[in-house]
Amino acid sequence: MDTAMLIGSAFEVGSEAEEKILNPKTGAEILDLPEASLGQIDKAVDAAETAFEGWSQTTPAERSSYLLKIADAIEKDAEGFAALEALNCGKPINAVLNDEMPAIVDCWRFFAASVRTLTSPVAGEYMAGHTSMIRRDPIGVVGSIAPWNYPLMMMAWKLAPALAGGNTVVFKPSEQTPLTALKMAKLLSEILPEGVINVILGRGETVGNALINHPKIAMVSITGDVATGKKVLQAAAKTVKRTHLELGGKAPVIVFDDADLEEVVSGLRAFSFYNAGQDCTAACRIYAGPKIHDRLVADLAAAASSITFNDPDDTKNEIGPLISGRQRDRVASFVERAAELDHIEIATGGKASGAAGFFYEPTVVAGALQQDEIVRREVFGPVVSVTRFTETEDAIAWANDSDYGLASSVWTKDVGKAMKTAARLRYGCTWINTHFMLVSEMPHGGLKQSGYGKDLSTYALEDYTAVRHVMIKH
Ligand code: NAD
Repeated sequence: MDTAMLIGSAFEVGSEAEEKILNPKTGAEILDLPEASLGQIDKAVDAAETAFEGWSQTTPAERSSYLLKIADAIEKDAEGFAALEALNCGKPINAVLNDEMPAIVDCWRFFAASVRTLTSPVAGEYMAGHTSMIRRDPIGVVGSIAPWNYPLMMMAWKLAPALAGGNTVVFKPSEQTPLTALKMAKLLSEILPEGVINVILGRGETVGNALINHPKIAMVSITGDVATGKKVLQAAAKTVKRTHLELGGKAPVIVFDDADLEEVVSGLRAFSFYNAGQDCTAACRIYAGPKIHDRLVADLAAAASSITFNDPDDTKNEIGPLISGRQRDRVASFVERAAELDHIEIATGGKASGAAGFFYEPTVVAGALQQDEIVRREVFGPVVSVTRFTETEDAIAWANDSDYGLASSVWTKDVGKAMKTAARLRYGCTWINTHFMLVSEMPHGGLKQSGYGKDLSTYALEDYTAVRHVMIKH
């Protein structure tokens, strides 16, 4: 398999400490990958800086055609990419092949189209004898840093708008999930001009830290933890870099008494536990009305316990394990602390499962109160809390009472109530009678400590370009 990093037009193996890449389904080692040295990081940034001159002056149509070729090449090798992603992340192969791969290809195609249709205010004589126009120009070299939950999809979300906007990129995948990024590096090197994209490997505190502090990096785009986002902001302050932060989430789900219980339960079975809950938009914090609450807890517990995982026939699996033993233990410790509280009932799940691998049972924590840790902190695992409310005002106040502000949902048959509630939720996205659904045309991004900057949609393209004013005296 491809193990070398892409630096300019060269493939180089890292020359620093090795990181063990594990198979989360078994805990077995897949391979060791050394990380980039400071010299290799500099070379990658220099290559991106040199390539910027030419790439930034290509036309939108030219860049669009490169992106379309990338989309076609990924689509052609979708099975190869899916197999590698499934191996490295422990995801069920069908989830990657049928859900993620089409979305990834669509993301590249969307930005190929979108860059040709950017709009702005009309040029005109806003001062007598002077004509003004707006330009949207590239920013420079973007340092892009991705997490481990959707490695290939995060790579698409970050690279497609950055490249479409005329920027060049140095990309660092998570040290836990670099395998598809290496395969992508090969594919991208065969399509794009030298240096437009560079892929380097390594840990956050070493390679990531060097990248976000690099003086020649004009913008840092990161998806990760809130604590990591804060480090990016501190580093960015030194040279006033642009930042694009997609941080964590703790999505509230308000279920009113008049909601369709069956739809809620089948929805939450999918939207709370997909990717083993390692999703910043996962429907993990449920507030249920007084009349629907007990039936919801019982039915959701039954539905969660029916989710297939760790079946020897992977085509039957709906979810996989957590990414690492550390993440599994972290999830387990949240549930253990919750279970110690008298008012909490673990309605289903509540323990690690399977002799090998990092599996954790789909878990429903009932009776949770607003101040409980399980309601307030991001677990990032297959665990949901359910909290009973009686007054709508409490449900809205509790939903908003969070440091996070990424995603939320409202479930009711009353359209007016849904719209009024959605308008008061302080989240980047509110779904009504669904959750979790993303489309390339619509923005994904947060408020509050979930960060700012949008992925997907033309808003992302705007984030990766700078508005400029050109005025001509005549
Ligand atoms: P993480 O913050 O530990 O790591 C994310 C990336 O940042 C990795 O590539 C890592 O190497 C790098 N990194 C870590 N420390 C760094 C540093 N000091 N300097 C530079 N880079 C550094 O997060 P994770 O554990 O990989 O991912 C899970 C987190 O990501 C969760 O909190 C989740 O909610 C969040 N997430 C958010 C979104 C979103 O769109 N808002 C999407 C997916 C994941």
